Amino acid sequence: MTQAKNKVVIFLGPPGAGKGTQAQRLADEQGLLKISTGDILRDHVSRGTELGQQVKPILDEGKLVPDDILMALIRDKLASMDDVRVIFDGFPRTGAQAQELDMLLEELGAPVNHVPLLEVPPEMLIERIVERGRQAAARGETIRSDDTEAVARHRQEVYRVQTQPLIDYYSARGHLYRVDGVGSMDEVYGRILEGMK
Ligand code: ADP
Repeated sequence: MTQAKNKVVIFLGPPGAGKGTQAQRLADEQGLLKISTGDILRDHVSRGTELGQQVKPILDEGKLVPDDILMALIRDKLASMDDVRVIFDGFPRTGAQAQELDMLLEELGAPVNHVPLLEVPPEMLIERIVERGRQAAARGETIRSDDTEAVARHRQEVYRVQTQPLIDYYSARGHLYRVDGVGSMDEVYGRILEGMK
């Protein structure tokens, strides 16, 4: 494993900021694996695995799943990679997760490279999430159980209290850069690339 091949990007930003979409594009264009903890957890719920049954009520309420569960999932994902080329979407979400991730990445010789922070005004976030639910319903898809207005508001609060402190954590390490998340998908993507230069 050569050091230069490794690349680690962490997308930070509130629920509804558009992290998933932007992270997927970057992953496709740069040959990175997108690790979205929300998607992984929802997949367990829909398959009805033991883990899925355990976390379903937590997801439904918009609360955070315990750190040890998340760390086991992440360790598992990274263990199967030769080069660590990843984008984290929705992880880490707590200070403990960030510290443990740093330790794990150090073991693997793959330090964090970039932490884009997608910024979108709070009221626009709720609108986007409720709209995402509406559109999924219109397409006849199952709506995410946490894409209701009340749960979306709670998720914003959880972000503010538990995840926002990570902005300081990554800022202090010189990895963080702010990206205006308002605009077309292409405009926002352009800003993300610009910040990586
Ligand atoms: P969003 O960014 O729209 O809030 P996600 O898909 O990232 O949604 O996450 C959905 C839910 O999955 C969260 O509300 C939480 O219950 C759980 N979850 C996802 N990632 C984590 C994490 N790193 N730590 C704890 N819980 C998580």
